Amino acid sequence: MEDAFRFADDLGPFKIVHIHHAGIGLKAAVVIDNTACGPALGGVRMALDATTEEAFRLARAMTFKNAAAGLAHGGGKAVIVADPKQSPGEKERLVRAFAAAIGNLTDYIPGPDMGTDETAMAWIADEIGRAVGLPLELGGIPLDEIGATGFGLAVAIEVAARAIDLDLAGARVVVEGFGSVGKHAAQFLAAKGTVLVAASDSQGAIIDAAGLDVTALSALKAAGRPLKDHARGQARGRETVIDVACDIWIPAARPDVITEENAARLNVRIVAQGANIPCTAGAEEMLARRGVLVLPDFIANAGGVICAATEYRHGTQAQAFAAIEEKIRANTQTVLVEAKRTNSLPRAAAISLARQRVQKAMRVRRWGAS
Ligand code: NAD
Repeated sequence: MEDAFRFADDLGPFKIVHIHHAGIGLKAAVVIDNTACGPALGGVRMALDATTEEAFRLARAMTFKNAAAGLAHGGGKAVIVADPKQSPGEKERLVRAFAAAIGNLTDYIPGPDMGTDETAMAWIADEIGRAVGLPLELGGIPLDEIGATGFGLAVAIEVAARAIDLDLAGARVVVEGFGSVGKHAAQFLAAKGTVLVAASDSQGAIIDAAGLDVTALSALKAAGRPLKDHARGQARGRETVIDVACDIWIPAARPDVITEENAARLNVRIVAQGANIPCTAGAEEMLARRGVLVLPDFIANAGGVICAATEYRHGTQAQAFAAIEEKIRANTQTVLVEAKRTNSLPRAAAISLARQRVQKAMRVRRWGAS
């Protein structure tokens, strides 16, 4: 018994459900961390090495992210222990069996995550009538295509720039990871007058102090080609973007890109975290000591989940953009003011804000429900 409660603390997790269907070879876990703010929203991850602990940590991250974003949703996460690259037929069988098994967990709303996509969400919705991140034909809002997260990131950066008296017109931007999040952030920022001076993808970087053409780079990626094929600028190794001096540095690829070892190389004013946990805790402290403003991931990259919550309420794309703008603007502002007032890192202020929202919601729920 004790082992089953090893994650338990003052916030949750409310339920951990293990699913094992021997006949179909399904092994999965669902963690509903906290539902005080509303039904738990969080992705379904399919990976061979996925664990219940991973599901719990991701579910807790969603509790904070959803609360910080001001959504009427708690946090949850599911893992299916399986190879995401199995045949489509087998994957469908497994995902449908998983959906059937979580049918009565009505306080959990599944969404896409690593190893699952909009088609998998369509199968789940078909089985149990609830999922977000659906195909357009089923009322989904294609958040990567429209750049929901990149848009939110640009809004957060606008608020941060104002807070440190940085004029966005002419501000130099570097994007590490020119994918769904990175390219759209670059595009929305360019519309506010910034200049992209470097960008990277998994195969290399392209650098031009005179400014890169964001639209041309996006077209290159859409054609399946690497950034280093761009006709203008200097092609370099992908790590070189860390050394490009700029005003706004956007990590939008992998975790732990900025560490205690390389943080000193960043010559920037704002780090806006598009990726999840792109900086180690030590690196964030080092940057703060040098006066660099670090916008924490779960505040700055919440555009995707705000879009998903809008979709769940049958909202439109325009309503999703309006909600992202309103929520991320207000939350970034609150976090920056609070960080200054308490002389703490923006991340600490953001977690404190999220925790307070969850605890306040718990107080008005029956039995202080988690
Ligand atoms: P993506 O696959 O569309 O793009 C990732 C990009 O990073 C690709 O261009 C890839 O070539 C590049 N890349 C990979 N490894 C790299 C490296 N070592 N150096 C430089 N570039 C590298 O993914 P995405 O959806 O844009 O997500 C990016 C990050 O943002 C992930 O950490 C994801 O968890 C996070 N995130 C995404 C969303 C969303 O809405 N898509 C929301 C919140 C957080």
